[in-house]
Amino acid sequence: MADPKGFLKTARQTPRRRPVDVRISDWREVYEPYPSERTEKQAARCMDCGIPFCHNGCPLGNLIPEWNDLVRRGDWAAAADRLHATNNFPEFTGRLCPAPCESACVLGISALPGSTGEPVTIKQVEVEIADRAWSDGGVAPFVPAEPTGRSVAVVGSGPSGLAAAQQLTRAGHAVTVFERDEAPGGLLRYGIPEFKMEKRHLDRRLSQMEAEGTRLECGVAVTSKAQLDSFDAVVLAGGARVPRDLPVAGRDLAGIYQAMEYLPLGNRHGSDSPVTARGKHVVIIGGGDTGADCLGTAHRQRPASVTQLEIMPRPPRARPDSQPWPTYPMIYRVSSAHEEGGERVYAVSTEEFLGDDAGRVRALRLTDVDMSGGRPAPVPGTSREIPADLVLLAMGFTGAEKPGLLEDLGVEFDARGNVARSASYETSVPGVFVAGDMGRGQSLVVWAIAEGRSAAAHVDSRLRDLPRPSLPAPIPPTARPLR
Ligand SMILES: Cc1cc2nc3c(=O)[nH]c(=O)nc-3n(C[C@H](O)[C@H](O)[C@H](O)COP(=O)(O)OP(=O)(O)OC[C@H]3O[C@@H](n4cnc5c(N)ncnc54)[C@H](O)[C@@H]3O)c2cc1C
Ligand code: SF4
Repeated sequence: MADPKGFLKTARQTPRRRPVDVRISDWREVYEPYPSERTEKQAARCMDCGIPFCHNGCPLGNLIPEWNDLVRRGDWAAAADRLHATNNFPEFTGRLCPAPCESACVLGISALPGSTGEPVTIKQVEVEIADRAWSDGGVAPFVPAEPTGRSVAVVGSGPSGLAAAQQLTRAGHAVTVFERDEAPGGLLRYGIPEFKMEKRHLDRRLSQMEAEGTRLECGVAVTSKAQLDSFDAVVLAGGARVPRDLPVAGRDLAGIYQAMEYLPLGNRHGSDSPVTARGKHVVIIGGGDTGADCLGTAHRQRPASVTQLEIMPRPPRARPDSQPWPTYPMIYRVSSAHEEGGERVYAVSTEEFLGDDAGRVRALRLTDVDMSGGRPAPVPGTSREIPADLVLLAMGFTGAEKPGLLEDLGVEFDARGNVARSASYETSVPGVFVAGDMGRGQSLVVWAIAEGRSAAAHVDSRLRDLPRPSLPAPIPPTARPLR
């Protein structure tokens, strides 16, 4: 039983970020270490409500009040056990998840008498449990007792593919993960910068998976059905990487890159990236998280200036009435990258890119826009130029890459251009399942893991000829965030 008054005695406290001038001099994670005793006090703020809405906020159904109570009592090993019961990779989500669970925490209802309206630091408790389990030697490989003799190919090694692979390996199937990049991890390795999650966390988990028996074959692009014919089942987990473009005049000038051209180079080469922001006026088009990752990467390369443009108006600082508790609200957030500098400009649209004589971008012409009619309408008299010698497009993704494997397999697509699937994650091609962004569209790490687990449960029940899944399947493919 939790301490029902813990939240009255202790205020919410999150770890401090390292000073800006220190952290932009390296690529390490931005947060300072957080002492265990403080985590135990923070966990004690959880009052174990009768209906834990945080469960509904978390797509994995993490058993949040249970592990909060175990941490409060100092039983970190049992907490790690409960955490791993629902989440294969809590050290990833504990670092990267935007924590919709915290938006759904009952302590977030500010009307509650005595409450500060400040949710439990769920994500922080999660990462501390996971990191401590690793450092205490509590994360061992889980080698399946009996092989089933069935084989599964997983195409793609992002969080959805890795979660599916780990679940299926542990169930006794022979799993091979094919990854076209030189190393596994998908966006965890090449999209998400080191300062948000150091890759050592990923590598450590991959070692556990290999020790369990998962085969990771990197540098292998699966482009045809024939490469998969020898497997009993296939899980497509190739992500949704087709970027949205900005087809305005000057788009073909040199110096304009998609975020996912720029970020992987930053992740591979850091300050020595062949596409560097050093000394440049950088303009990032897109005010979301991918844009923020470009911003943080650019800061570490020492730019002359960075401007982040967003077509929508600036969101409110507090929850608007239209997005009440327990939804995840669209509010003005200051990420670590925003704290490091740069200017955010809202309600603007790019009219054209302007080049120099050598064909390189030198400026961008933008205009204010009025969104009151539901569509961006240019505001007369506001057109202006800003300097830009490196432009990064971070406007989202339109879906999975169709040429190659998907076309050769002949899978059907849904109205949004994602790979269509049944309630059991199976595509229109029997025996071929799909998980993660490839079936859902660009989403979050926590959803990718939840999809990987769920798809694995259905693959397993098919291979074993079970009437229903016996492995955990936290979400159906139609599950969506609380709105
Ligand atoms: C820049 C960026 C930052 C993000 N930051 C966050 C964050 O902080 N928190 C968060 O929760 N979410 C974040 N996201 C979203 C999150 O990373 C994705 O939702 C998640 O990675 C999707 O996982 P996935 O396994 O479906 O696909 P991916 O991670 O995209 O992995 C797909 C993998 O499949 C491989 N592949 C594709 N086709 C083939 C093929 N034919 N053969 C072999 N391999 C193939 C690809 O190379 C890739 O490695 C971010 C996204 C981006 C773009
Ligand atoms: S995975 Fe995300 S939503 Fe789930 S408990 Fe962790 S921080 Fe919350």
